[in-house]
Amino acid sequence: MTLTLTVHRGTNEIGGSCIELRSTSGERLILDVGRPLDAASDAENLLPATLDRTGTATVVICHPHQDHWGLVHELPGSWPVITGQASAKLIEITARLARRPLNRTLNTWSSREAFERSDFRITPFLTDHSGFDAYMLLIEADGQRVLYSGDFRMHGRKSVLVERMMRSPPADLDVLILEGTNLGTDKPTISETDLEDQFVALAKKTPGRLFVCWSGQNIDRTVSLYRAAKRSGRTLVIDLYTAEVMEAIADGTRLPRPGFDNLKVVLTSGLRRHYAELGRVDFIDNMAKHGLSARALEGSNHIVMLRDGLLKDYKAKGVTPAASDAFSYSMWKGYLDKPNKSLEWLKSAGAHLEHLHTSGHASGADLRAFASAMNAKVIVPVHGQNWDKEQFGFAGIKRLNDGEDYHL
Ligand SMILES: [Zn+2]
Ligand SMILES: [Zn+2]
Repeated sequence: MTLTLTVHRGTNEIGGSCIELRSTSGERLILDVGRPLDAASDAENLLPATLDRTGTATVVICHPHQDHWGLVHELPGSWPVITGQASAKLIEITARLARRPLNRTLNTWSSREAFERSDFRITPFLTDHSGFDAYMLLIEADGQRVLYSGDFRMHGRKSVLVERMMRSPPADLDVLILEGTNLGTDKPTISETDLEDQFVALAKKTPGRLFVCWSGQNIDRTVSLYRAAKRSGRTLVIDLYTAEVMEAIADGTRLPRPGFDNLKVVLTSGLRRHYAELGRVDFIDNMAKHGLSARALEGSNHIVMLRDGLLKDYKAKGVTPAASDAFSYSMWKGYLDKPNKSLEWLKSAGAHLEHLHTSGHASGADLRAFASAMNAKVIVPVHGQNWDKEQFGFAGIKRLNDGEDYHL
């Protein structure tokens, strides 16, 4: 019996993830169909050329970042796609916002509940990542045991999940397919709770508003900022998209959502128009109960979400930056290599600028400790740019090229 592994995309890059497992009888399981991070927003036909689209296959999506699911709409309509329950909701919201609506209903799994699809037995393990509802996947087929790490870290609010897995790893792993985003980089990997303290300190020394740029899908970060707002006696102001994300996932959790104290939704005309076009006037009306207009940001000391997409609406309502304000870019600072209107806007007013961030991915040291604990016979590197020069401390690395078949 031979199980075949093919990394269609990702042996040398971050994003666009697409991996295939093929059983002896020819059944196929696809791990992720991600959109390449460097693809233009209107680019199409991006599935890897080596991915055979004839016949059928089951697709599993490890978490709701577009570099793992963004090409679902290019798959044959008959291929089932499975992911986590909250992931399914978040993918649907983002696909709509990106104007590439899904052409199918996603099936869902529950953490630690194994299920079978053709020759494959799959067990999802909820893990710690900047993307919400992220999973590692244990796949058993043809007598082989493969663990796919997906994207993960060990310094977020769910780090205990990774620690638990390291204490009792899946037995007898043949292959670990491991992400390596942060290998050979100096991206910050302080804990999310330490980052929260840094936001509290910044809020306390800022007399005016604290504008923050972060991803509405980074739920850990929304929680850190919400907690920092409460601890500094301020209100966190989120946009309609972030409000929709929190509404979609907050049921049954203690996550902050519209209606909580110290939390307001800013009703900007661009996003109002977007939801109105989708026929979601009810959503806007609901959010308006917990909302404020951009005009109300003037004279406040709120912690305010800011993205280039919101800037035009803020300006139109007379929001004017001041030297008493501060701005924190809370995303990877490499994105600032491109011009950032929000940063320039605050900078021109003499506002205090501070980059406060921690990575969504494990540090090199944590990746090595995790790999050692998993103790797989072979490690197949993916989702990294520096694997060639960062192999020390990893035992049993098997470097593949994109599209190359590896017979286990
Ligand atoms: Zn990724
Ligand atoms: Zn991710």
